Amino acid sequence: MTTRTRFAPSPTGYLHVGGARTALYSWLYARKHGGRFILRIEDTDLERSTTESVNAILEGMTWLGLEYDEGPFRQTERMERYQEVIHRLLDEDKAYYCYCSRERLEALRADQMANKQKPRYDGCCRDLTVPPAEGDSPVVRFRNPAEGSVVVKDLVRGRVVFNNSELDDLIIARSDGSPTYNLTVVVDDLDMQISHVIRGDDHLNNTPRQLNILDALNGTAPTYAHVPMILGDDGKRLSKRHGAVSVMQYREEGYLPQALLNYLVRLGWSHGDQEIFSIDEMINLFDIEDINSSASAFNTSKLLWLNQHYIKESPPEHIAHHLSWHLGNHDIDPTNGPDLVELVKVQQERCKTLVEMAETSVYFYKDIEHYDEKAVAKQLKPEIQGALSALRDNLAALDQWTSESAHEVVKVTAESEGLKLGKLAQPLRVAVTGGTVSPSIDKTLFLLGRQRVLQRLDHALKIIEEKVAMA
Ligand code: GLU
Repeated sequence: MTTRTRFAPSPTGYLHVGGARTALYSWLYARKHGGRFILRIEDTDLERSTTESVNAILEGMTWLGLEYDEGPFRQTERMERYQEVIHRLLDEDKAYYCYCSRERLEALRADQMANKQKPRYDGCCRDLTVPPAEGDSPVVRFRNPAEGSVVVKDLVRGRVVFNNSELDDLIIARSDGSPTYNLTVVVDDLDMQISHVIRGDDHLNNTPRQLNILDALNGTAPTYAHVPMILGDDGKRLSKRHGAVSVMQYREEGYLPQALLNYLVRLGWSHGDQEIFSIDEMINLFDIEDINSSASAFNTSKLLWLNQHYIKESPPEHIAHHLSWHLGNHDIDPTNGPDLVELVKVQQERCKTLVEMAETSVYFYKDIEHYDEKAVAKQLKPEIQGALSALRDNLAALDQWTSESAHEVVKVTAESEGLKLGKLAQPLRVAVTGGTVSPSIDKTLFLLGRQRVLQRLDHALKIIEEKVAMA
């Protein structure tokens, strides 16, 4: 049987890390077995589902590179099919109309609560045979088996047994005829021939109900794997309180998708003590049986560590692609400055996030807006005027602008001015970058390009001249 997995988000918000991890596991499992990964949008809750959310989910999946083979299917486009199944169940007496009023159900519930019983439908309309009359708008309930038990053979949780006596006759169609979640999931998993359902364990309690409906439809059950939830660092269920939970927020904060994927795959799954996994390794090594059965806690410092690793180790072209998006956030057009790949090569070792890389790269593209005042006071002093001015002329006279030739000029100028290299290099750095921190001075000069370097040296010399005039 072909492996067919699915990710079935309800579009009521962004793609969060929990959803992304479920999607990743489903995607990996399909890839590992040469199967298909299906995206299904569960949008039947019209009040809470939005197009923006569908787009946000698609955007998150694209950024992570979790490409789907089929879909996105939208449940709202399959309404006729659900009606067909509801009517089939009614015709076969596996479902029935329920006319109980809201007041009756509320009173029943209150009664059961008062008697310390689990609230459940009492089957009042189970044996009615009257079809709805004009103007009636009953709900449809599934006739759940009254006896016996349902066994979920979960790949993560093991064997979980539910007694049918605990499950009441759930509503599969509301009074306006619209289908409910447990019905649509079953019909879709069946029609889409899903072989493995990997989802959050908040759905474990729905599974026996879904298995009973599947059975009523003579369908073959998929294999289930319920993945434990993610906790925040305080042991509570991960939520916005703990910081970013939206996948795209991680992009904003300068993470690489590969780092987040590597982080997510390890969050609840392990392979020995290996921490770093390429995508191919994830595909080869991942197995559902190795998913932990207990909840995992989110650890931002580990994610940051992975991000730094991937920034350092990824091909510069790859980083350049992601960095250009962050430069865009600074209104920088990356074609208006040094070759981005060359820039990445000097920044890769220095940054933990792409936000940091973009921030520390602004002066390569834009005029310096703010000089570090302390650095200017300390490094751009009248004593350095002569050496800096000689350096400016020597750089202007260079034949070839390379980092080696620029380095040679700085060295020779320092020597002829009787200065140690650092005594000239640091004022030069402040002049061309506005501060005291940058990649090596030769690489910085090379990347800035001659024109920017000369302009900035001229500006620095002007600052010094003003100081001389004031003295
Ligand atoms: N739409 C459900 C959710 O977003 C998932 C259903 C499922 O995976 O079966 O929680």
